[in-house]
Amino acid sequence: MSSEPVVEVSAVFDTILVLDFGSQYSHLITRRLREFNVYAEMLPCTQKISELTWKPKGVILSGGPYSVYDKDAPHVDHDVFKLDVPILGICYGMQELAWINGRGVARGEHREYGHATIHVKDSDNKLFHGIDNFQVWMSHGDKLNDLPTGFKTIATTDNSPYAAIAHEKENIWGIQFHPEVTHTTKGKQLLRNFAIDICQADQKWNMKNFIHTEIERIRTLVGEHGEVIGAVSGGVDSTVAAKLMKEAIGDRFHAILVDNGVMRLNECAEVKKTLSDGLGINLTVIDAADEFLSKLKGVTDPEKKRKIIGNTFIHIFEREAARIQPKAGGEIEYLLQGTLYPDVIESISFKGPSQTIKTHHNVGGLLEDMKLKLIEPLRELFKDEVRALGELMGIPHDLVWRHPFPGPGIAIRILGEVTPEQIKIARHADHIYIEEIKKAGIYDKISQAFACLLPVKSVGVMGDQRTYEQVIALRAIETSDFMTADWYIFDAAFLKNVAKRIVNEVDGVARVVYDITSKPPATVEWE
Ligand code: GLN
Repeated sequence: MSSEPVVEVSAVFDTILVLDFGSQYSHLITRRLREFNVYAEMLPCTQKISELTWKPKGVILSGGPYSVYDKDAPHVDHDVFKLDVPILGICYGMQELAWINGRGVARGEHREYGHATIHVKDSDNKLFHGIDNFQVWMSHGDKLNDLPTGFKTIATTDNSPYAAIAHEKENIWGIQFHPEVTHTTKGKQLLRNFAIDICQADQKWNMKNFIHTEIERIRTLVGEHGEVIGAVSGGVDSTVAAKLMKEAIGDRFHAILVDNGVMRLNECAEVKKTLSDGLGINLTVIDAADEFLSKLKGVTDPEKKRKIIGNTFIHIFEREAARIQPKAGGEIEYLLQGTLYPDVIESISFKGPSQTIKTHHNVGGLLEDMKLKLIEPLRELFKDEVRALGELMGIPHDLVWRHPFPGPGIAIRILGEVTPEQIKIARHADHIYIEEIKKAGIYDKISQAFACLLPVKSVGVMGDQRTYEQVIALRAIETSDFMTADWYIFDAAFLKNVAKRIVNEVDGVARVVYDITSKPPATVEWE
């Protein structure tokens, strides 16, 4: 990692600091704030305040699974009060504030989980300004027994006499419910009141401002002669990251596209055209299809396929990167990675005493072998922010909204051995399916769709002849987070037409089926 001083995004934009106590909703607090253009960043609750290199405009203490009175419960660094900025505690966060100010927290008689109606005592109050009695989402087992010293009650529910409390002089606020989930009908307005009216954060966080900051940041980091390499895949993340590098350092950014032979039909050529001709990125395309295919020969185990493809990729990338000639006569020092904020959150979120930090293995090997430093221009962004940035930088709509495509490509959509013949069949069927989806105008409604080639044969009849050929399974899902997913409900006429086209046009396919399993229990991909 670099040791050079680089301006952090949180030092440029007014930032609300979210301290995470391990709630499953913590990241949503950050998201909601950014939705109204206030920058927010999450750090674990164990963060030492004196080690912050920037000053937040306000602090939010999240919910969490612990009870504040537990022996090993996490507690906030008391220096947070010395920052002299507004503080909002949510659920565990509020209990933590109460614990610090009088210890009046205990197990309730019963858990409170689900909707409750909040009764606001004084809607002129800054936190509830403009929002009155509304539905809130509760999820707690502990409760406040007393008002902590110096606080007053500002809202109640039938079950919670201290549903919201405030120490107005100290600018400290606590709420028992979760404003970050959509079940709390006016939760976003409440967060807005906190961030904008109470913390006085400005609303400058948008992708247009981010581009400038980020380009400057990259230039400072890389310096006048530094060079950067990075792999691109044609996916939105790597393309947006590459375009940012291009804008920042021009041809001193070297993009490498490895054709592994298992990309979609014509994809390699299309990606090349868009990135190189369209976006002006300094791109090298490596045709390594034969190398991948010879390694995949005879392999049927899904995990093995994934490993082979991953390792072969690293091997080829390293080899080709070593051949790249620096443009400015300097050295290639950095490796670009399209890490997004959810990966960062995953690695910093508080998971209790047994906390393990997840490392990202995909480039781990590369960094060690090549002695490169990592550059991650998207590490502050959520996926929708990356897309907005992509649109703003002139990346074509189709690429920005492209369905996710796995690294091992169609190799894991061909069940059984991956051979050139099977690739041809799978690619062709997938191409027809996606073409029809686009024609029907539903591509953007579906989160991910693809065709899968099954290694079974089935009897058919075509032109009075008996056929005995393979089966294509179609998959289409709708999801907001890819953690859970529902299968997409097509019109029967649509499916009928796709099946007809595939059987008629793709040699080697006698039957088409549609996958109607949700995730869970099934996964999105078949392998
Ligand atoms: N564990 C605490 C409770 O049960 C806090 C819960 C939460 O933050 N959602 O009350």
